[in-house]
Amino acid sequence: MAARVIPVDPFDLVIFGGTGDLARRKILPGLYRRFHAGQMPDTARIIGAARSEMSSDEYREFVRAAVIEFVSPALCEAEQVAAFLSRLAYVAIDARGDGGWAALKSEVRGDVVQAFYFSVAPGLFGDLAERLHAHGIAGPDARIVVEKPFGRDAASARALNQSLAAHFREEQIYRIDHYLGKETVQNLMAVRFGNVLFEPLWNAQFVDHIQISVAETVGVGGRGEYYDKSGAMRDMVQNHLMQLLCLIAMEPPNRFEPDAVRDEKLKVIRALEPVPADDIVRGQYRSEGDLPGYLDEVGSPESRTESFIALKVQVANWRWNGTPFYLRTGKRMAARLSEIVVVFKEPPHAIFGDEAGSEANKLVIRLQPDEGMTLTVTIKEPGPGGMRLIEVPLDMSFAEALGPENAEMPDAYERLIMDVIRGNQTLFMRGDEVEAAWRWTDPLIEAWEKRGDRPKPYRPGTSGPEDALALLHRDGRRWRDLEA
Ligand code: NAD
Repeated sequence: MAARVIPVDPFDLVIFGGTGDLARRKILPGLYRRFHAGQMPDTARIIGAARSEMSSDEYREFVRAAVIEFVSPALCEAEQVAAFLSRLAYVAIDARGDGGWAALKSEVRGDVVQAFYFSVAPGLFGDLAERLHAHGIAGPDARIVVEKPFGRDAASARALNQSLAAHFREEQIYRIDHYLGKETVQNLMAVRFGNVLFEPLWNAQFVDHIQISVAETVGVGGRGEYYDKSGAMRDMVQNHLMQLLCLIAMEPPNRFEPDAVRDEKLKVIRALEPVPADDIVRGQYRSEGDLPGYLDEVGSPESRTESFIALKVQVANWRWNGTPFYLRTGKRMAARLSEIVVVFKEPPHAIFGDEAGSEANKLVIRLQPDEGMTLTVTIKEPGPGGMRLIEVPLDMSFAEALGPENAEMPDAYERLIMDVIRGNQTLFMRGDEVEAAWRWTDPLIEAWEKRGDRPKPYRPGTSGPEDALALLHRDGRRWRDLEA
């Protein structure tokens, strides 16, 4: 069962920051894969635009190297790569000056879908929006795509929104959160709303609690200076974990359409309770052996920025009253993993007796490394010896269930860029959602800064500080093992 590929309309995609790290590792290889899959029409064009002076031929060589490095060799037949490169052009441009804009105007056609990907620092978003408008490059239905970080608090996010809104309507703005482009995330909605099995149980009456974990094994590495100004709360919770929480917690939208879905997500963010200090654990990984600690890597021995955070979050509405959402994310942890675990309640009465044992049902939704879902159910342990119960997984690894031709899931960026071309905003964040998420985050950060809290040190290769384990233990619960 090969995945169906529906070609998109002809387009011109301009990648501002087309020589940057994100373009090289994600955007350009992703576009190549979509081209290879037959999704890009013959007339589609991609125009790199960045500060470096280079010719279109030099840019094609840069893109060839990126494709060879980041796309599986099986997809890199020489003639396919050459055909892809023939759609590329390059314009040297300065977002803050006037150089290059006339050349860009002559490259961008007016009668195809126009998309402008702002893969540059957010400080340049306003400049780009203004110049695209001033030079008459962007047509009335042009789309712009912006990357995280979208602000560092509510005020800066609002300012960014305003700088874009000065020249583009909200329907033209695509704020990327690549977590939303993951196959599993969309499957989460398919499972919730395409079946009758789950939705009746999807509430405080049957769900004991929910865990959302995003763990990385790497440290901050070369990004230390940037990271130290942000920390895990701003870098991961305000956007990625919050988006996942919204999709789990939201009410069924009346249709799977952009504003219907985003209205429901916004209601969840607005229903989030402020989190008391006792329900937040922040950590910093320490050095061990040859591995430098967080403070060594950022080069700031007094830094109080967290490389790990765990929080107990309450959604104050009828559906979730009393069901906590435990979130955690951190660097230099025991495993690289992103997953959501919905832990259901235990049966109300143990008819097999306490000695039979029992485990709550769990729905584990894995975003990485291997995307898929597992539902654990309780069965009788086979064999004689009485009624002993064990937990077994009903596994739905997508690669296995859907066959080898679907084993390689489209990367989140590929899917999201194609959604931009199709004009589908469902998996992108709306401006009011982003601001609301910051309005919830800001007072938590302000409170710990005011108290002068120091993050707790934790050993690299673990689940974070001991206090993060205690956050669940004190409620009689425990985190799912990161290495399970
Ligand atoms: P980068 O520093 O590698 O590249 C920046 C790009 O912007 C270069 O192409 C550069 O030429 C261009 N540029 C800089 N100043 C310019 C100017 N005045 N005019 C025109 N072009 C200019 O950065 P990156 O890692 O590719 O990240 C780009 C954006 O994406 C950033 O906002 C970053 O926060 C965000 N982002 C990056 C990643 C990632 O994995 N790299 C992930 C998520 C978000």
